Amino acid sequence: MSTSLSNEQLNQIANEYGTPVYVYHAEKITEQFGKLKQAFHQCPTRFFYASKALTNINILKHIRSLGCNIDCSSINEVKLALHAGFDRENVLYTSNGIAFSEIEEAVTLGVNVNIDSLSNLEKFGKKYGHSYPVGIRLRPNIMAGGNLKISTGHEKSKFGIPIEQLDQILALVEKENLFIAGLHIHTGSEIKDVEVFMKVADIFFDLVPHFPELCFLDLGGGFKVPYKEGETGTDVPLLGQKVAEVLNRLKQTYQREFEAWFEPGKFLVSECGYFITEVNVMKQNGNTVFAGVNSGFNHLIRPMFYEAYHRIENISNPDAPRHPYTVVGNICETDTFATDRPISEVREGDRLVFYNAGAYGFEMGSNYNSRFRPAQVLVINGQSHLIGRRDTFEDLLRNQVEVL
Ligand SMILES: *Cc1c(COP(=O)(O)O)cnc(C)c1O
Repeated sequence: MSTSLSNEQLNQIANEYGTPVYVYHAEKITEQFGKLKQAFHQCPTRFFYASKALTNINILKHIRSLGCNIDCSSINEVKLALHAGFDRENVLYTSNGIAFSEIEEAVTLGVNVNIDSLSNLEKFGKKYGHSYPVGIRLRPNIMAGGNLKISTGHEKSKFGIPIEQLDQILALVEKENLFIAGLHIHTGSEIKDVEVFMKVADIFFDLVPHFPELCFLDLGGGFKVPYKEGETGTDVPLLGQKVAEVLNRLKQTYQREFEAWFEPGKFLVSECGYFITEVNVMKQNGNTVFAGVNSGFNHLIRPMFYEAYHRIENISNPDAPRHPYTVVGNICETDTFATDRPISEVREGDRLVFYNAGAYGFEMGSNYNSRFRPAQVLVINGQSHLIGRRDTFEDLLRNQVEVL
């Protein structure tokens, strides 16, 4: 039985903290990290939580307490990670189109860095030479992931240094005497097929002889988690077994030990999250029945941005017969969460919960339409704690400079 919060617990939290509210369940994160540790117990592996999925400082501290490392997408995430108490050697900054000054700052802070462009690699070499080990983010020309928007490894993707430019990379490494400690390939998000990771491993296999100081092979994140009922995610135990095989083969072939690195975001925090909303208005329009909730893409943009599916349940009336509803928000834009979705009978004032709301939910939120971002609540050891207060009117004006 997988760890989850009951309708009763969710209703209690909504009573106490109001809606809309994001709720995170710490023990679910613990369970997910446990699955990774179990699946990879036979091979030298390091996991770096891709913190862009959810950066609340309490979530970061909880993840650190599990013994997990952290991957960052900006220098500010690096600073948040250090603030949360991660040791610098457990922090990884995987860059993507960033200014060289951020890489310099990351080096000053002493964290691990993956570089994703020839120009930054060259600047890095000129400044640090062999003195600071660094990883190279490559683009493998593999199409993978849930859809084009979340796919990062294909030939039109901006991410990483195209693998065809290997000669240029090697020339730079030699000229600047770079210390290449790792290779990185993140092919995208929602990758169900273990074979995609194996293709990446094959690419690494052939690249190893070019980089004699290599010690880690970073296969990125993107493990798929179930969103729909009955759906399955990435077969993590199978992946663990296959990666162990690859590492063994590498060791035999090259007489050296390598570590596999992974950067799971969704896998760790997607399912821990619940987003509770309340129905403001019901409307019928021809055959469509709209349930309009007190939220919109300002709070949860994934359905509109990626056509992502989030399971939605009515926790105020869970046992009633199901009817199709089109669930929409209150933003002055078309912000449809779900179309003709069977949900147990919805009435004004009912609470609708969105599942899988831990990853890229609150984190991609905004104040569009000058609405407040929701409160965030953490449930840990059976207790709920407010870990992010709802915006107030003052927050809307806080950074504005009134000159008129
Ligand atoms: C976003 C990202 C991840 C995490 O992806 P998930 O689908 O959330 O697991 C990992 N690595 C890098 C470099 C990323 O940009």
